[in-house]
Amino acid sequence: MNCLFCSIVEGTIPNKTVYEDDQVIAFYDIDPQAPVHFLVIPKTHISSVAAVNGENSAIVAHCFEVISRVTKDLGIDSYRVVSNIGEQAGQSVPHLHFHVLAGRDMTWPPG
Ligand code: 5GP
Ligand code: ZN
Repeated sequence: MNCLFCSIVEGTIPNKTVYEDDQVIAFYDIDPQAPVHFLVIPKTHISSVAAVNGENSAIVAHCFEVISRVTKDLGIDSYRVVSNIGEQAGQSVPHLHFHVLAGRDMTWPPG
């Protein structure tokens, strides 16, 4: 399968890794939308939140555990977690990822 984030997991596309274990990798976004902007992705290919089910949902809990840990390690105590699902919501890479944004005031509702 030709998937950009699977290529990052495989190491064929370089990235600035923030955290990695056997299940997930967290790396800085190439086009940051805030002073701190990294992505947390499962190493297994899941296309989006819409493909999460009873068989694979444990990885989502692990992603959030990593978000909690990495933000603490970076000294961040206020941040936003975003996952875009589908074209209208702005998903451009069809591999599940959670954006973690911090370091500036955020607006609500998001655009
Ligand atoms: P989406 O638009 O699917 O919600 O988020 C995809 C994100 O991946 C975007 O914020 C985009 O900047 C980021 N991105 C796309 N290609 C690369 C890449 O090759 N390396 C990194 N680090 N981020 C990427
Ligand atoms: Zn993938």
